Amino acid sequence: MTEPRFSSPSEELVYRAAGLNRVYRSGSRQVRALADASLTLRRGQRLGIVGESGSGKSTLIRILAGLDRPTSGQVWFEDREISRLRERDLGFLRASVQMVFQDPRSSLNPRMRVSQIITEPLRSSLVRRQLPAGVDHRARLAEVMADVDLPLEAAERFPHEFSGGQRQRIAIARALAPKPDVLIADEPVSALDVSIQAQIINLLEDLQKEFGLTYLFISHDLSVVEHISDTVGVMYLGDMVEYGSKKDIFAKPMHPYTQALFSAIPMPDPTVKMNRIILEGSIPSPANPPSGCKFHTRCRECMEICKTEVPKRYDAGNDHFVVCHLYGK
Ligand code: SF4
Repeated sequence: MTEPRFSSPSEELVYRAAGLNRVYRSGSRQVRALADASLTLRRGQRLGIVGESGSGKSTLIRILAGLDRPTSGQVWFEDREISRLRERDLGFLRASVQMVFQDPRSSLNPRMRVSQIITEPLRSSLVRRQLPAGVDHRARLAEVMADVDLPLEAAERFPHEFSGGQRQRIAIARALAPKPDVLIADEPVSALDVSIQAQIINLLEDLQKEFGLTYLFISHDLSVVEHISDTVGVMYLGDMVEYGSKKDIFAKPMHPYTQALFSAIPMPDPTVKMNRIILEGSIPSPANPPSGCKFHTRCRECMEICKTEVPKRYDAGNDHFVVCHLYGK
């Protein structure tokens, strides 16, 4: 499923990634955390990536954020190929791409006041070079505190003095401070109480509209993905097995793995019968993946060919693709 190598940049696209592989060493064994992943992300697009733990979602976003390097493959951010740049040349990425992590208790330094936490990215020498000269840190602090609906007086308090939802607002404010183009969120609401998850999702949605941000976020909760994304990527054991618009994928999931994930979404109407597809067993180890289609050990549609031959990518049209032997024969 490797796409042709890119030769010229496109202004509209923020990210282009092709043929991304990431292999780690575990003792004498090699663990392939990411296999031949490709994607594009346009300015203002909201891509949600779903998949079980161990599917390679976190590895993918770490590579896109410049926090990890692919073993092979290419990643372009706007007109620069970031997969080949040295750390000291990634300053533009540190300013343009910010991350929000799952648990604000561990992502916020408990010894720093909120004002220090939020303005810290502005002090980073890598980020500073990308910002207009003379950025007033106090003014920017006031702006982002207002953006996330926190009073400015709260800026002199410490993270432990806030609730979980407020701490995630602080983490979002920190991410917004350098005026990024892209926000990457790694399970941004899964550590929060259900009662406040909706508030944070609505906040992220409002901020995206207000600032025209490009979103890339991962979640195991499909109702979150449905709410916030316009494009969905489904990952399984390091592979992007289905990718397309939210409308197409939610209306007609094609890959048996996507169908199983989506069959578990609760129905708002209790009178509607759910046809839940139960996945047998857990995701196999990336250190010893199954042959052929990696999903064949759990797939209810498995055929003989699936056990030996790796399926090819099938283009279902409208930028929707699926990697499965059921299609394109
Ligand atoms: Fe199932 Fe075969 Fe498709 Fe894999 S290739 S998802 S095993 S039908």
